[in-house]
Parts: sequence; C-alpha cells; structure tokens
Amino acid sequence: MAKEILEMLIETATLELPDTKTLRLKWPDGHNPEFKTGQFITVYWPDTPGYKRAYSLSSSALDRGAYEVTVKRDGKMGTRIVDWAKPGDKMFVIPPVGKFLPQFDKHLVCIAGGSGVTPFRAFVREATRRKLDTKITVLYSVRQPKDIIFNTEFRELEKENPNFKFHVTCTRALPEDNWTGRTGRIDSFFVKSHVTDLPNTVFYACGPNALVEFAEGLVFELGAPKEQMKTEKWG
Ligand SMILES: Cc1cc2nc3c(=O)[nH]c(=O)nc-3n(C[C@H](O)[C@H](O)[C@H](O)COP(=O)(O)OP(=O)(O)OC[C@H]3O[C@@H](n4cnc5c(N)ncnc54)[C@H](O)[C@@H]3O)c2cc1C
Repeated sequence: MAKEILEMLIETATLELPDTKTLRLKWPDGHNPEFKTGQFITVYWPDTPGYKRAYSLSSSALDRGAYEVTVKRDGKMGTRIVDWAKPGDKMFVIPPVGKFLPQFDKHLVCIAGGSGVTPFRAFVREATRRKLDTKITVLYSVRQPKDIIFNTEFRELEKENPNFKFHVTCTRALPEDNWTGRTGRIDSFFVKSHVTDLPNTVFYACGPNALVEFAEGLVFELGAPKEQMKTEKWG
C-alpha cells in the first residue's frame, strides 16, 4: 500500500531563492506512508510520464501530511518546477527510498554546497523535534550570503537545538554583502576543525557528483574509513 505510485496535489510552492523552490506534495486522504528521514522521492508530471527525476526530501519523516522537496532551476525538470509549478498542479510521486539516513547515535558532520543542503534540513528537523542529544554540524558552502537556502530556519533550529551548528562559508562574497563569516571553499582544515571524536563521527555529503567526490577526498584525508562516509550523488 505504502509503495504505490500516487498522484499528489501541490499544496504550496515556495520560492526559497530566485532559482530554488520548495514543493509541498500533499498526501491523498488516508495516506500515511512509512519512510525515513533522508530518503528521496521520484516525481513526474502527468503529461510526461516517461520523464522522471529524483528529489531528496527536505521534510523529515516526522512531518506528516505531505512530502517536501526543494528543487534548483537546472535542466528540464528543474526549470519546469521552479518556473512553472504552482499550487493546485498535480504530480505523480514514486514513494521514498534511499540509504542516506542519519545515524543519530553519532556526531553527524554534513557537508553541502548549494542545493545539496536540502536533506540536512530534514536531519536537523527530526533531531530537534525528538530532542535528541545528537551533535549535528552542517558545513555549507555557497557563493554569496543571498544563496543560503533555509537560512532563517537553520538559524532558528540552531537556537532551539544546542547540539546543532550551522557553519556557512562564502566562496564569492562581495564587499557589499558585509559578510563577516568564513570565506573560501570547504577544505580539510575547515572540516577537521569540527571533528572532535573521529571514531564516533559520520560524514555526509550530498549534491552534484563533483562536490560529493571532493568531500569524499577530504574525509579520506582525515583518515576516516569508508563506512563513516555516506553520500548521495545527484549526477
Ligand atoms: C537521489 C537524488 C536526489 C536528488 N535531490 C535533488 C534535490 O533535492 N534538489 C535538486 O534540485 N535536485 C536533486 N537531484 C537532481 C535531480 O534529480 C535532477 O537531476 C535535476 O533536477 C536536473 O534534472 P533535469 O531533468 O531538470 O535536468 P536535465 O534536463 O536532465 O539536465 C541535466 C543537466 O544537464 C544540463 N543540460 C541539459 N541540456 C543541456 C545541453 N543541451 N547542453 C549542456 N547542458 C545541458 C542541465 O543544465 C543539467 O545540469 C537529485 C538527484 C538524485 C539522484
């Protein structure tokens, strides 16, 4: 039952940034799926059933009633969603799958660039809601401060959850941005400075292949075995 493909109504379509939109796909009445925080769904439009794309859930398994995905304008599906998807439209949804799951008994060090931060919102939402004492550190690289997705929510979660830290580094901040935080790319020093107990740390990286492979290299440099690194490659 929980594994059937269902048509879902777009309940809300929220522009997070000029090129990034969150869709809230409402579950049909009586639908109460079991799934895990960190999984992804696959969606397609009724008029193009052959054209399917995967999106990580940016909502957690504790957020009931709808799936949320956060999509960047890129390629055919990304552009159609960001520029055209609106409340009232319908999309088909293939149920959540995937193994990019938070291991809440470890320190989670989550490495993200751009839209790759979306599943980490789900990780932090679940840990905060459950009042877990899991340490979660998100290391997030964007070009400029205006490119930070979910900035307000992450800052609020940081206040609510003393075990969560949101560290942003800007690679192309301009003087007029008045950015006082870290600048430059994510590098091994940056990652290392947030690791206090390597054997009890799990690293996560999500997003375009190049970023994920780069993160894998950094974690390898730190001497962590492969089992302590979980990746979600978007292609
Ligand atoms: C598990 C998983 C989770 C994912 N989660 C997310 C997520 O949460 N958010 C998100 O935004 N994406 C996510 N993705 C990526 C997503 O599935 C799509 O790959 C993405 O939206 C682009 O799909 P598309 O059909 O729009 O692009 P396509 O049209 O298939 O294009 C793919 C790429 O090729 C480029 N391209 C297309 N045509 C040309 C051309 N003629 N010349 C040069 N370049 C071209 C496009 O710009 C794009 O970068 C995820 C992927 C996976 C596998």
